[in-house]
Amino acid sequence: MAESSSSPNASTRLCGLPWPARPDRVEGSLPVYDSIWIDGCAAAASDGERLESVDPASGNVLAGFSAGSAEDVDRAVNAARLALAGSWGSLPPARRGGLLLDLADACRRHVDTLAELEMLDTGKPISAARGDMEGVASTLTYNAGAADKLEGISVPLGREFFDFTEAEPLGVTAHITPWNFPLGMAARSIAPALAAGCTTVIKPAEQTPLSTLALARMAKEAGFPEGVVNVVTGDGPRTGAMLAGHPGIDGVTFTGSVETGRSVGAAAGRNLRPAVLELGGKNPMIVFADADLEHAVESAVEGAFDNCGQVCSSASRLLLEQAIAEEFLSRFVERAGRLRAGPGHEDPDLGPLVSREQYERVRGHLSLAAEEGAHFLLGEPPAEWEGGGFFVHPAVLEPASLDSQVATKETFGPVVTVYRFRGEDEALKIANRLPYGLAAGVHTASIDRALRLSRRLDAGTVWINGWFIGGVQAPTGGIKDSGFGRERGQEGLRHYLRIKNIGIHLGFGNGRTFSAEDGG
Ligand code: ADP
Repeated sequence: MAESSSSPNASTRLCGLPWPARPDRVEGSLPVYDSIWIDGCAAAASDGERLESVDPASGNVLAGFSAGSAEDVDRAVNAARLALAGSWGSLPPARRGGLLLDLADACRRHVDTLAELEMLDTGKPISAARGDMEGVASTLTYNAGAADKLEGISVPLGREFFDFTEAEPLGVTAHITPWNFPLGMAARSIAPALAAGCTTVIKPAEQTPLSTLALARMAKEAGFPEGVVNVVTGDGPRTGAMLAGHPGIDGVTFTGSVETGRSVGAAAGRNLRPAVLELGGKNPMIVFADADLEHAVESAVEGAFDNCGQVCSSASRLLLEQAIAEEFLSRFVERAGRLRAGPGHEDPDLGPLVSREQYERVRGHLSLAAEEGAHFLLGEPPAEWEGGGFFVHPAVLEPASLDSQVATKETFGPVVTVYRFRGEDEALKIANRLPYGLAAGVHTASIDRALRLSRRLDAGTVWINGWFIGGVQAPTGGIKDSGFGRERGQEGLRHYLRIKNIGIHLGFGNGRTFSAEDGG
């Protein structure tokens, strides 16, 4: 893998972007965004606090943005509450869907600008960023179609009664999003929330706030009423925690690490508000000897190294049946070793990791693995990347033991741990032994085995003979420490609705369905 030039002029590129990505001003050479977006207006943080985002390909500062205060969070929640009670709340559902479609169209029109913005903030290859933005448009379109189909039911209680349910919007919803797919993750939770009639306050990750801000500006232009889409930028422990625990929030959606998920879930729980938590994983891909090896190797390369391994559902553990382990590994390591890293605008196979913190974290995991006695098949604990960016070579390693750190903890980088097994039971034992339960996969020619294992794997998603199968229609989420609730698809919409039951006594008979003893 050749070391690539960094992109020292990333902030210049940012200044050259058209609306909706253009910074509010330039201070010295720093593009600055007033990124507290409330009621369709941009403002600086009430206390003037600022943060900087960094270009991961060079390590240079990319842009400045506002760090939201308690007052900013309050204002955003209040604006969302007023919009819910006002113009947004009275809009017919089909009109909500129409606005979401208009926003999807705007995303398609601005796809190049949004992709460039996402690439600069995350470091990811430009074609991947573009694919992500197309996914954002699809997510908005899918949910737009659902806005006027959120039907209740009538409940048969007998002829004395008429009983029915209505699916009401949950209310004011908070969306705390991660840095790996910044706009994709924001869209996947606000689109169903908006389709359901909720109003939203988004807190994007402090590493990657820019595309979310652009989307909020586009929502205003598409005609969303003021206060429906609000953004409060800032860091997690301050701004994020204040939003998660705000008493004016009716539900919280969070995607991120297990530890932060615990704290966000606890904050929502203290207010007795529901939370959807999609957390980390250490996801096993199990390859049996009867699998199509060529295809399984390609699937593992995509599953492990897509987005430089910074995906909650990455194929980060490879479980190989003993009989094909050597053959598989020699092909896999050869393929992984050919992946080319570089800055996003060169459209490499791998971009850098998102931040210095993530770079140190991944390198720390690799060094620890080496100290623990792991056998590296590729990517010995790497030397510091000399170009200044946060690049890490792909690593493939056999951990010293099943209990070593690298075998048990999520790395969130281009790092794959390898295990060998004999037979289904041993494969399942290794796959299910960790507290995570996000995704799992099986490569086999036997449909019986695939379905047998699907039922026994501890995971919210199981992929057979492929990885990352699915799309906006397919629900995703975890079990065990990987969280709860589902995003995407019809399941994803349900979290943004609350069911009200309305019972009518039709005025004859005794007016009771149950006796007191029934406890109804
Ligand atoms: P990472 O550690 O990789 O940055 P996190 O799960 O901590 O991942 O971050 C995901 C999102 O959660 C980001 O938007 C971040 O700002 C936010 N966040 C971090 N800590 C907290 C917290 N204590 N409360 C609410 N949000 C938080």
